[in-house]
Amino acid sequence: MDSVRLKKGKEKAVRQLHPWVFSGAIDHVKGKPENGDIIMVTDSNNDFLAYGFFNDQSRVAVRLLEWNLETEINETWWRKKIRNAVKLRADLHTDQTNTYRVIFSEADYLPGLIVDRYADFLSVQILTSGVERIKHILLDELQSLLNPKGIFDRSDASARAHEGMEASSGGVLLGIEPPEFVSVRENGIFYQVNIAEGQKSGFYCDQRDNRKWVAEYAKGRKVLDCFSYSGGFSLNAMKNEASEVISVDSSALALDTLKRNIEINDFHNIPHSQIQSDVNKQLRVFREENEKFDIIILDPPKYAPSRSALTKASRAYKDLNRMAMLLLNEGGLLATFSCSGAVDISMFKQIIAWAALDAGKNVQFIQQFSQPADHPVRSSFPEGEYLKGLLCRIS
Ligand code: SAH
Repeated sequence: MDSVRLKKGKEKAVRQLHPWVFSGAIDHVKGKPENGDIIMVTDSNNDFLAYGFFNDQSRVAVRLLEWNLETEINETWWRKKIRNAVKLRADLHTDQTNTYRVIFSEADYLPGLIVDRYADFLSVQILTSGVERIKHILLDELQSLLNPKGIFDRSDASARAHEGMEASSGGVLLGIEPPEFVSVRENGIFYQVNIAEGQKSGFYCDQRDNRKWVAEYAKGRKVLDCFSYSGGFSLNAMKNEASEVISVDSSALALDTLKRNIEINDFHNIPHSQIQSDVNKQLRVFREENEKFDIIILDPPKYAPSRSALTKASRAYKDLNRMAMLLLNEGGLLATFSCSGAVDISMFKQIIAWAALDAGKNVQFIQQFSQPADHPVRSSFPEGEYLKGLLCRIS
């Protein structure tokens, strides 16, 4: 087996079971491993540390899989990891919910593999050449464990490009093609999901718990759902009898899907309007019109894709939250989220505090949100913790 020797001092993170070896930590590559090959990683004394798959095209040159010298990474190994991930989600599948993340990459010890379930269909993202190699095992195991009608490829081309991989051909990997809209349930609410063309892999199932918790405050309240996508927060607020719901998103497809979702849930009794616009612009329009709300939800896309974008992203989060605070009635609630891994919860609280100072408002944090059970955070991989939110009372 080919191997990689680390520079002296670079073995610490590996010993702590962190799954990444950066190319800069490597002293010497023994043999001629190809991308996706399983190799051995050793410390500077050539003592075994771990096994992982190699990729000299990636910033992360080795993705570690196994820390036990005696354990062979073979078909049985892969099947067991997939089975464990599926098992962890067994309790999430109920008569109320049939959409969730089945496999979450490093957090499930399967680096570069994401699988989402949409009722009888699975959407798969293969983002490392190591996982590409075991695609046949993956499909077979998923088929036997979950018996989907179809498995669809949604591998993100830019993530693959970062790994030096070609864009995947996409499309159906197994079984039948999903219909244009697959109907799924989440906490008893129906959603139409466009698996082939929807954002992310079709739906943001990571907000499942938070949608429900925020909506507990919605009864009789006027709710503004910013960055609504297909209406996760809007529909939960409607179910809980908000007095009125306004949804804002820049995507026509998202709002079109939201409209369908209101129809299939028969939420017509709640006054609703949807505005296709840039949220930052629309908040300023509301301010000019002197419009006020009881609850505002802010669930923007990732403003900080990396640490280097932090300064700019902090400013954007601050401005967005400041504007929202100015639109709330006295004692109103702001449910604000960040899915930027580089912004942790204490930094996010600080940003909200700055926004409040600028807006001349007081903030009480009354609830903290994070990611749900199907997006676990592995203790040796804190990078996997990305979603955070705060429920703030503004006065
Ligand atoms: N809250 C949603 C998920 C939001 S994802 C849910 O519960 O499902 C982020 C959304 O923001 C996407 O739908 C995207 O179309 C939208 N978006 C991105 N930039 C935007 C902008 N500047 N103004 C309005 N919407 C934007």
